[in-house]
Amino acid sequence: MFVRELKDPLIRLNGAWKKTPEKLEDFKQTVMRFSSAGIISIADLLLYYPREWVDRTRTVPLKDFDKKDEKGRKIAVCTIAKVIAHEWVGFGVKRGVKVHIDDGTARAVLTFWKYQETYEKKLTVGEKFWISCKFSYNARYGEIQSSSKIVYKRIADESTFKKLFPIYPLTKEITQREIESLIRLALRHYITAIEDEIPLFLREKYGFLPKHAALTVIHAPSEPEELEKAKNTLIYEELFYLETMIGKKAMTRKARQREGEAKSGLQGRLLERLPFSLTEGQVQAVREINSDMDGPFPMARLLQGDVGSGKTLVAFLACLHAIENNGQAAILAPTELLARQHAENAAKLLEPLGVWVAFLTGNVKAAGRTQLLKNLASGEIDLVIGTHALFSKDVVYRDLRLVVIDEQHRFGVLQRQAIIDKGGSPDLLMMSATPIPRTLAITVFGDLDVSIIQDMPPGRKPIETHLARESNETKVYDFVRRRLMEGAQAYFVYPLIEEGEQDLKNAASMAERLVREVFPEYKTALIHSRLDEEEKRQTMEAFRRGDTHILAATSVVEVGVDVPNATCMVIEHAERFGLSALHQLRGRVGRGSAQSYCFLVYSDEYTEDAKNRLMVMLENSDGFLIAEEDLKLRGPGQIAGFEQSGYVKLGMADIVRDSAVLEQARTDAFAMLEKDPGLLLPEDLVVSAVLERCPPWQDIVF
Ligand code: ADP
Ligand code: MG
Repeated sequence: MFVRELKDPLIRLNGAWKKTPEKLEDFKQTVMRFSSAGIISIADLLLYYPREWVDRTRTVPLKDFDKKDEKGRKIAVCTIAKVIAHEWVGFGVKRGVKVHIDDGTARAVLTFWKYQETYEKKLTVGEKFWISCKFSYNARYGEIQSSSKIVYKRIADESTFKKLFPIYPLTKEITQREIESLIRLALRHYITAIEDEIPLFLREKYGFLPKHAALTVIHAPSEPEELEKAKNTLIYEELFYLETMIGKKAMTRKARQREGEAKSGLQGRLLERLPFSLTEGQVQAVREINSDMDGPFPMARLLQGDVGSGKTLVAFLACLHAIENNGQAAILAPTELLARQHAENAAKLLEPLGVWVAFLTGNVKAAGRTQLLKNLASGEIDLVIGTHALFSKDVVYRDLRLVVIDEQHRFGVLQRQAIIDKGGSPDLLMMSATPIPRTLAITVFGDLDVSIIQDMPPGRKPIETHLARESNETKVYDFVRRRLMEGAQAYFVYPLIEEGEQDLKNAASMAERLVREVFPEYKTALIHSRLDEEEKRQTMEAFRRGDTHILAATSVVEVGVDVPNATCMVIEHAERFGLSALHQLRGRVGRGSAQSYCFLVYSDEYTEDAKNRLMVMLENSDGFLIAEEDLKLRGPGQIAGFEQSGYVKLGMADIVRDSAVLEQARTDAFAMLEKDPGLLLPEDLVVSAVLERCPPWQDIVF
């Protein structure tokens, strides 16, 4: 059996509690608690991997207390020592207890200035303890004294003292002791039944452990080298299956054929009407998209381009291509604000070509909505732009050929799937300005083709970015005032909407302050996510027309907002924002031909860390580099909506840390599929068995 097939309930575990009814009752309680934590079967239990492992195998005897590591830092002593005496020292509040220890290589003292009685009791004279701590020599007393936090553990019996052991992620339902003892039983009773999942030829190629051995070692390691090997085995296995499933998915997608006759003309007519020509990158992207859409397989393409690179126009051209082929197109935007902006642009650019553009969000109600749905179903509407309302149950298309998802990382995978399901197998164009580092791109979007717009529309000047301390704010205000006098507009962005628990500036009060004290001669408006849609619309409209000069906002302006005359972006408490968010916000300016400015205003009590992050912004304007930095700082979960999107849950692997293994696993999996697409060769049979009997992930969607 494969481990995921061990569906026996925990109650089957045969242990000491069978002896008395009370113990059995206790055990039942434990099982109940585990099941509410999601650990129901033996499989769940064995796949509940430790969070980390404590390694006490390394020893540094007391006599080496003064040794340094390669970076010149003092190393911690890790040793087993005997307590030989207690000594009370000092008086009053300065009273402490010294615990004298000896590990056979030297003597030293552990000093405690707090909870002295407790330590005196715990560190009993005559007993042995595992101790880890840094020490230094105190010449005045002629002693080696502890000089850092002291970690210790009593050793009842040196022969059974565990030097390497797992620490499990705990919840309120389960304790370390319980999980350890249940896993011990599960290993004892079930481990021999567990089959390998990595094909033998690959296991041998890399010298991985058999699955049962890897699981045993993960839960009960005895040597660090062995533990490393077990981890590598499980990580590879996971990534190998991930990539195999991605590979299979890509194969099925390419197998679906498609009909459709091409007419032409709309794209060309739009290009003629534009006051500028496309950039190289846009031309290339449109070419790739057209050829995908004309090809025999449904397109699945990710269009990446930094903020301001002109993805929207590429999307419109793609929509025109679908419409030229007598199909319909839909553009899905993450916010109503952005959907509306796209709809307005589309109306301006596309309606003159005879394209019927409609706008659909949750706020389009009753009569209007009914009519709109009718026109969509009959196929009169060519292009519909909206939010997730586009894929409500009652929305029916006549012939949905293309789905464009703007700022795709804002959407969960399930939402994406829902809209794709609306058409037969529509072409799919996903757009992202948050550059997706390669490691994520090949997993999360494993079977997508990628177009990248590298260049910016001509005439853009690089945005000048400055750091400013909060206390120097007036200088920033003065600077912005001069730009306003020249007719420009400005954004001020705050981390909070209203006054909150934290002592931070918020958009609402600052909007008032900007009006009253700072820029009384200019018009300031406030925008944030809690305003209703109509208010948001009017506010944005007024700002776009230039009727208001200053927009005090939260990060709602982060995504996609495009007002070329706005050339100043002031971000207050910039240290509170993630790098990608800062990059997005900064991308709101620099959209016209005038010089633009971005001020990152940080609190006077910033941390060194925060300042370093802001320096990244100062030194980089390339979204890809910033995203890589962000990835390093924050981990993958937050970047591309990787975890939120309910995509896959990885157990042992971490696609960023293990990116090299990921690439290897991908190569191996794809080579296997290339050679044996049906997975019928004897050496691949185990893979088809796993996929058939217990696929690691039920549903991989893209
Ligand atoms: P993003 O890629 O961030 O979504 P947008 O599509 O909002 O960027 O485009 C930013 C601005 O650049 C828009 O005002 C758009 O009209 C303009 N633009 C797009 N393509 C070009 C081009 N080839 N030349 C000049 N301006 C362009
Ligand atoms: Mg955009």
